[in-house]
Amino acid sequence: MWQAEVRVDLDAIRENVARLRAGTTAEVMAVVKGDGYGHGMLPAARAALDGGATWLGVCTLDEALTLRREGVTAPVLAWLLAPGLPLHEGVEADIDLNAASTDQLAELVAAADRAGRPARAHLKIDTGLSRGGATAADWPALVEAAAKAQAAGSVEVVGVWSHFVYADAPGHPTIDRQLAAFHEALAVAERAGLRPRYRHLANSAATLTRPDTHFDLVRPGIAVYGLSPVAGDTYGLRPAMTARARVIVVKRVPAGTGVSYGHTYHTERETTLAVVPLGYADGVPRHASNAGPVRLAGRNRTVAGRVCMDQIVLDCGDDPVAAGDVATLFGSGADGEPTADDWAAAVGTINYEIVTRFGSPRVPRVYD
Ligand code: PLP
Repeated sequence: MWQAEVRVDLDAIRENVARLRAGTTAEVMAVVKGDGYGHGMLPAARAALDGGATWLGVCTLDEALTLRREGVTAPVLAWLLAPGLPLHEGVEADIDLNAASTDQLAELVAAADRAGRPARAHLKIDTGLSRGGATAADWPALVEAAAKAQAAGSVEVVGVWSHFVYADAPGHPTIDRQLAAFHEALAVAERAGLRPRYRHLANSAATLTRPDTHFDLVRPGIAVYGLSPVAGDTYGLRPAMTARARVIVVKRVPAGTGVSYGHTYHTERETTLAVVPLGYADGVPRHASNAGPVRLAGRNRTVAGRVCMDQIVLDCGDDPVAAGDVATLFGSGADGEPTADDWAAAVGTINYEIVTRFGSPRVPRVYD
C-alpha cells in the first residue's frame, strides 16, 4: 500500500521524443538535467534514447558522470562548469564539455593533456541571454584559440551553440535577433577554420515553433516530459508525471471551522475535511495555499488553508470521501485531474518548476 507517489509514464517520454524527432530533420538532445526535470534522470534518459534522442544534455559534470557510471553510452553534453573541476574525468568518460571563454577552453586543454586524449568542446556564443557564452566581442578570440587547440590535437570542436531568451513567446523580436547573431557567430567560426558537426540553438519552444532554428541538433527539455512552454501545442505531447496521495483522515466539522496554520480558510458550512499527505517538503509550493487544485472523489477542489510541510487539507462538502481515497494533485488531465499547467497558473510559476519540485526523495517515484 502506498501513501504518496509520483508516477512517471515512461511511454509518454518515449512518445514525446519520437514526436519531436519526427518533426525535425535535426538530431534530438533530450535535456535531463535537474534529475530529469523531477522525473528521474536515468529513467528519463533511457526512455528519451528509446524514443529516438541521440544526445543527452545536462548541466553539471556530476550529472554527466552519473549517466556514464550507469552505463549510458550516448553522447552527453555538460554545460555549467565551475573553474577547477576535474574536467579530465569528463574527457576520460567521453563527455562533451561547454567552453564559453578562453579560460574555459584552457581548462579543457589542460584536462585533455591530463586525460591523454582530445576534449570534445562545444563553443558557446551569448546571443542575448547574458548568461553563459562568449560575448560577440570575445567570440573571435575564443574561436581562434579553439582552432589552434584543435590543430594541436588537444580539442575537438564538436559544436557551436547558444540559448534563447524568449522562444516561448513566438514572434518575440529577440528570437530573430538571436538567430541572426548565431549565424554571424558561425560565420566568424568558419573564417577561423571551424566547421563543427553540431550547430545547436533550439530549446523546446523553438523546437515546436521555429524549424529555422533547428540546425543540426535541437535541445528540448520540458517538451520531453510532455509539457509545452507555448500555448497551443500541435505535437500532441503527453505529460509524463502524476503526483498523488491517499487521504489520511476525513472529519466532519461545523461551519466556521478554521483550517490549517493561521486559519486562512474557514468552512462556510458543515462539511467534510480530507487531509492529504503531501506538503512543501514534497514539492507542493506553499504559494498553493488556498489556490492549488486537487482532484478527489471525482471533483477538482482547491487546497483549503495553508500548505504545510507534509500535508494539505481539502474541503469536500458533503461528497462521500473516505480515508485511503486517492487525491491527484496533477497528471496528464486525461481523467479530468488538474495538470502541471493548472498548478503553474494557480501559484504564479511555470510548469517546469512544478514538475521539478516533485523530485523530492521522500515521495517514491513509480515508473509505468
Ligand atoms: N538548453 C539549455 C542550455 C538549457 O539550459 C535548457 C533548459 O533550461 C534547455 C536547453 C531546455 O530548455 P526547455 O526545457 O525550455 O526545452
